[in-house]
Amino acid sequence: GEMPLDELIASLTVDVPDHPEPGILFRDLTPVFASGPAFRRMVAGLAAAAASDPRAAAVATSAGRDFDVVVGVEARGFLLAAAVAYDRGVGVVPVRKAGKLPRERVAADYALEYGTATLELHSDSIRAGARVLVVDDVLATGGTLGATVELVERLGGVVAAVSVVVELTALGGRERLAPHTVHALWAT
Ligand code: AMP
Repeated sequence: GEMPLDELIASLTVDVPDHPEPGILFRDLTPVFASGPAFRRMVAGLAAAAASDPRAAAVATSAGRDFDVVVGVEARGFLLAAAVAYDRGVGVVPVRKAGKLPRERVAADYALEYGTATLELHSDSIRAGARVLVVDDVLATGGTLGATVELVERLGGVVAAVSVVVELTALGGRERLAPHTVHALWAT
């Protein structure tokens, strides 16, 4: 039979100690993206997570879709969000680091280990009431996804689900994102 998806992701992920700073164990997912079968299953898994979310079910409409648009976070989230959106026939919207988006935008600051960073979203990119699947590769402290959820909600979007490939459970990101539930393909 087929290897369970969490085992497949774990087996292809490369741990890089002390990157980008001493003390950080960086989970390099690029080999998971580079494997055709793993990438395909990962993308399917991220979309399926949204279908199983009770919050998504609560906001589902007669259109029969679990979400209307996929939001991906710069930069690795773009690779995932685009594939999920294409697979489901919906649009993809980028959340970007400060200074990249050219038009009217909303911005949210979030804490890094040292200092803060800013994420931005075009103001007209999410229609009020749209059900949004938010996707990223790694959930660490939850700062990045927390800011992303804040931006989506400020534009009137409804977060249908938050899906990640890997959740680093010791860092408490899941708690930080409550009441939203995070769906992780691999929790470690
Ligand atoms: P956070 O805001 O702390 O949840 O960090 C999440 C973002 O930083 C994600 O976009 C990840 O790509 C990246 N990240 C944080 N920690 C790690 C790690 N240990 N390994 C790989 N990526 C990480």
